[in-house]
Parts: sequence; structure tokens; C-alpha cells
Amino acid sequence: MTFQDLNLIEPIQRALKTAGYKNPTPIQAQSIPTALQGRDLLACAQTGTGKTAAFAIPILQLMQSQGRNEGRNRPARALILAPTRELAIQIGESFDAYGKFLELRHTVIFGGVSQHAQTRNLQSGIDIIIATPGRLLDLMNQGFIKLDKIEFFVLDEADRMLDMGFIHDVKRVIRQLPARRQTLFFSATMPPVVAELANGILTRPEKVAVDPVSSTAERVEQAVFFVSKNQKRDLLIHLLKTEDIPTALVFTRTKHGANRVVKELDKKGIKAEAIHGNKSQNARQQALSNFKARRTRVLVATDIAARGIDVEDLTHVINYDLPNISETYVHRIGRTGRAGASGIALSFCDEEEQAYLRDIQKLIGQRIHVVKNHPFPMEEGQAATQPAITRPAANGYRNGRDNNGSQRNNWSNSQSNNRRRPKRSSTGAPVTSDRVDTRR
Ligand code: AMP
Repeated sequence: MTFQDLNLIEPIQRALKTAGYKNPTPIQAQSIPTALQGRDLLACAQTGTGKTAAFAIPILQLMQSQGRNEGRNRPARALILAPTRELAIQIGESFDAYGKFLELRHTVIFGGVSQHAQTRNLQSGIDIIIATPGRLLDLMNQGFIKLDKIEFFVLDEADRMLDMGFIHDVKRVIRQLPARRQTLFFSATMPPVVAELANGILTRPEKVAVDPVSSTAERVEQAVFFVSKNQKRDLLIHLLKTEDIPTALVFTRTKHGANRVVKELDKKGIKAEAIHGNKSQNARQQALSNFKARRTRVLVATDIAARGIDVEDLTHVINYDLPNISETYVHRIGRTGRAGASGIALSFCDEEEQAYLRDIQKLIGQRIHVVKNHPFPMEEGQAATQPAITRPAANGYRNGRDNNGSQRNNWSNSQSNNRRRPKRSSTGAPVTSDRVDTRR
């Protein structure tokens, strides 16, 4: 299925193309047609499945086709409620990307910062509000926001919202919404308390579900190297020089970090380019097309710049820095191993990143192989012993199949059982290497 099959309007098609999206993910293919019909949706999908576009695209399209309200004091017509500031910001960025060629305006509202910039934005005329519940209620109480003209309401990550104790705030917000509205309800899991909330606010919803994001992690071969911060550079060069790594997308935490890595690789004759927010759109596009055409072997990116990068046959993702948000790890490694293909994700973990690694392993429910036999091991005593991993609660919709419907293999089990999995090259052929020893 392609995005054309979903009958999306031209400016949205163009925006998706600009973002590098080719085909809808399963949650998008299931949700978008239903939402475009104006129906309520009960969707079971985790972060990393493409769920944001699954609600953002139909809302943008429906709002656009209804015509635009003008004026600074026009009322908001869509409300997206998210549990955390990070998620709200990410959703805002998604609306930026998918609504790039539309004239609808959105703003992101969250607590922990001064409200001044937010209220100023609101007063400039906003069509879509993306908010966390606390600050939203606060601004509603102060009279800056009214919800009586909301036509589209999204409750995102409902289970997390409840876990974080926001149930009463959420209910307070819902009470202010008009009864006549379209509601899209997203949750990673569907325990009874979440289902009860959904029942109370949805009208004859269409139910859709996709596999949890952890299945992405199960498709990708993963290994971690404990290495000191100041030796990451040497380890990266060593791996690129000695391993069969045809293409690598390397993630750094900062833009400066990305530039530094490119410089070091260049010095060693390894063709690399950086892609991050300080580069012009043209420079980013050029770097991306060089990488896609394999003129550049290594693309170094920050998370924001890498959103939507879709490179066919990407063999390796290298986490030069581990992300502090575990879902980001899954997003990153999901760049390789697309559509059931096998990919390899290598992560560097320094002294300060071990807590991130623990969180990541908890999210994916796997213990990642530790490569001990490499030339730059972290000094004795600095590498923490790995804690036991318990799998997250099973998703009620989970059916043991991957996104394209085929039965999942047992690779994840073999990983958690500490058995060794043969390394594979990009062609799928096993690679035998004494240099990178993925045994524990
Ligand atoms: P989400 O689950 O909404 O947080 O999305 C996870 C990641 O997948 C984000 O980085 C999106 O930019 C990316 N993404 C979403 N839909 C698609 C698509 N159809 N093709 C390629 N990337 C996508």
C-alpha cells in the first residue's frame, strides 16, 4: 500500500514525500481511512509504530477540507492531549512536518516553563492545540483556552497518562469538550481501566491494533560495546575499518558531536556527512541523497534531523551516544531491519550511559549482547553488571506476528537466552568475524 491509496490531498502527499516517507506503516494504513470517514478510533499502538502520523494526517486533511478559519481570536478546532512534554513537542514537530504545505497553525502547551510565550502564541490564532493536561487546565482556568469549538480530540498514550496519575485532569479536560466531536484514542496497552476510559468517551469506535514496538527490536540484531567516552571515536573508526559495514547511520546526541565525528572520519579517509538542524534544508537533502546513492558511507545524524529518514537497505545503525529516552533507541534501530529485513544495531555505552542502557533493555524486554572482545574496553570496574530484564506487560492485542503478518522468529528468545546469533551481512549471508565477538 502507498500513501496515494489513502486518498490524501496533494499538500499532505508532498509533505510526506519531503519527510522521506514512502509507504504507510500498518497503524497508518488501518487508522487513516477510518479517521477520514469521521469515525472514532480505538487504536492500540506504541510509540515507534508511526502512530503520530496515524492521527495527525487525517486531522490535518479533514480540517483543511473544511476550510480555514481566519482571525487572531479564532477558536481551536483540534486538541491533542499527551502525557509528557517530550511527547507533546514531538507531536508538534510531526504536525510541522505533515502540515508543512497547509496553512493550519498549531501550538504546543506544557508545564515547567513560563506560560508567556504559550499564551502569546495562543492569542495569535491557533487551529490545533497539542498539550499536556496540567498546563492546559491551568490556561483554561485563566481564560486563555476554550475547548467549546473542538471538533477533533486525540488522547495519546492513554495508558501512560493514567500511570502518571493524570486521570482526573484528563476527565476534567474531557468534560469541557463538545459532545459532538471525533475522538481518536491511542494507547500502547489496553488494561481494563484504560478500556473503561475509552468506552466512556468514544462513540462506536473502529478498533485497530498493531504489534508493539518491541517487535522492531526483535528483528534487529543488537550489540553493545562498553567504551569510555573519549575512546568512542577510536572504536567507531576501528569498526568501520575492520568490519563489513556497507552503510551506517550514526547517531550522536548533539549537532556539534555529529560535526566532530564527521571530521574525525574524514581524517581517516572514511566518507561521512552530517545531517542536523544547523544545516540548510538543501545541505540536508544533498547529504541524504549522497548516502542513499552510497556515495557517502556514513551519515551522522541527531534524532530530530533523522526523523523520517528512510534508507532502503540500511545495514547498520550505530548509536555513538545512547539516547536518554528509550523509545528513541527503538526509533533509531528501526531505521535498519525494515519490513522484516535483518539489520544490525551497534551501541556505544560510556560510564554515564549505563542507566540509559538499563531503561532501553527494560523497554525492549531483551538483554543486548555485550561485545567484550574489542580494543577499547571500558576500564575495569566502570562497566556495570547487567541487571535482570523483565518483559513489559504483554499488549492485549498482541498476536505473536510481526507487522507484515508473518510469524515472528525466535531470535529475541535466543538473545535473552544468551545464545549467540550468527552475524549477517546486508545480503543476509552470515558473516564470521573474530574481531567483533558478539558472545557474552
Ligand atoms: P511515532 O510512532 O509516531 O513516534 O513514529 C516513529 C518514527 O517513525 C518517527 O521518527 C516518524 O518520523 C517515523 N515514521 C512515521 N511514519 C512513517 C512512514 N510511513 N515511513 C517512514 N517513517 C515513518
